[in-house]
Amino acid sequence: MKKIFIISVFFISTLAIAQKNKDAAKFAQTITQKDLKDQLTIVASAEMEGRETATPGQKRAAAYIESQFKEFGLLPGNGSSYQQLYPVFQDELKSAMLDLYNLKFAYDKDFAINLSNAVNGTFNVNEVVFVGYGNTDKEKDDYKNVNVKGKWVMLLEANAADIDKDENSTMSNQRAVFAKINAATKNGAAGVIVVSKSFLKINRQPAQRKGNMYMKKQTTENAVPVISVSYQAAASILTRFLNNYSDLKNIAPGNYATNIKLTIDKTTNNLESSNVIGLLEGTDKKDEYIILTGHYDHLGKRDSVIYFGADDDGSGTVSVIEMAQAFAEAKKKGKGPRRSILFMTVSGEEKGLWGSEYYTTHPTVPLNKISVNLNTDMVGRIDPLYKGDSMNYVYAIGEDKLSTELMKITDSINKSANLEIDRRFNDPKDPNRFYYRSDHYNFAKNGVPIIFYFDGVHKDYHRPTDTVEKINFDLMEKRVHLIFNTAWVMANRNEMIKRDLPLNVGTR
Ligand SMILES: [Zn+2]
Repeated sequence: MKKIFIISVFFISTLAIAQKNKDAAKFAQTITQKDLKDQLTIVASAEMEGRETATPGQKRAAAYIESQFKEFGLLPGNGSSYQQLYPVFQDELKSAMLDLYNLKFAYDKDFAINLSNAVNGTFNVNEVVFVGYGNTDKEKDDYKNVNVKGKWVMLLEANAADIDKDENSTMSNQRAVFAKINAATKNGAAGVIVVSKSFLKINRQPAQRKGNMYMKKQTTENAVPVISVSYQAAASILTRFLNNYSDLKNIAPGNYATNIKLTIDKTTNNLESSNVIGLLEGTDKKDEYIILTGHYDHLGKRDSVIYFGADDDGSGTVSVIEMAQAFAEAKKKGKGPRRSILFMTVSGEEKGLWGSEYYTTHPTVPLNKISVNLNTDMVGRIDPLYKGDSMNYVYAIGEDKLSTELMKITDSINKSANLEIDRRFNDPKDPNRFYYRSDHYNFAKNGVPIIFYFDGVHKDYHRPTDTVEKINFDLMEKRVHLIFNTAWVMANRNEMIKRDLPLNVGTR
């Protein structure tokens, strides 16, 4: 009797699980290729102008996503608002003047201001210290025999290996130049003059003297002005004759008397961007959450060329929208999730995961009540390097970083999904570092278990050619069904995902 009793309980609970899976499958079917395509045709349209953070295109996209969440009957996910606003800053140069004795240099032609290092004011410079390449390697420390404290430093953008090369063949390495500027400031420089090799080759737009956007105001206390000059301007400043850039290697390091007057007037514009958040309330576990994310921002436009970002990450954005609709539909039919679900499309991803950083530092629900974050960033294309059993694959990244449960759950759900779960990029030490490169990272960093779904990098990645007609909607539908079914299980299981592994993934 006892034995039979156990069997029948087992039988009933199996039936219940089967019924739930059937429900999940039924509502997953409401997410169709056609819906995904219709949505993406809007989100990645020319009207959205590439959705660059803090631009009108991004705001139009946000308004559209908000309208969809409202239409599905989701609640606002941030108090009474569907949008969570966050500040963005951008420096703009009002004017800059550089005079040598009575000679005026022309902006853009002879010199330019590094806006991120610009300090307002007028600077009179009577001496510059030329430090050559400005390197601080152990073997060759260009600061070893000079004292630059409180002085203006002039250094070469190029390195020894590149100085004689044709300027078209050498693209200046931004990172290396930053390191040189940092070295000068660390040594106490009052200002830095970078002699730029490709000064006139850089396509500057005089009308648009705007710097990069940033999210956190840096302290300007220790900032020193940094300017770039052409080799001709450098020659005048040093009162030396130079035929070409590579002649600079014959200039001896040391102090040079000069007479420069630099005036910088910049202003900082206050901009704004947002995350769009819709909430579907759960039933008996509504104080626990799962959060589905995708980033709706992309690279915007350069001149008049639009970066459509259909795959990156229009595909994740419309996946979140379509999953919201399917869950809302289920709720209307009495099959709503037990846990609450937050559907969040974030911006600022392409700038450096800003939206998700803002959310995780200003969460709308306690982060320890978020069972899992499923992040969808690029799910509409096929990696040309892909070598697997089939083309029906999705890369899954990060499942095993905080919990031993997620991989097992993915594998059990996927039994019927006919997708290959490819975990080749799962290791955070993988040279591509995909684990650090999308919004889930900010959740993981804060202890929330995550799964990142991804299709790989292709030739249209971050190019204007990432367009809707290149999306493989058949495969995208399969991937979204897998994510939806996973979300369904996460939202309805008895326990939150266990956080049973230490967070040990290094930093971005
Ligand atoms: Zn991207």
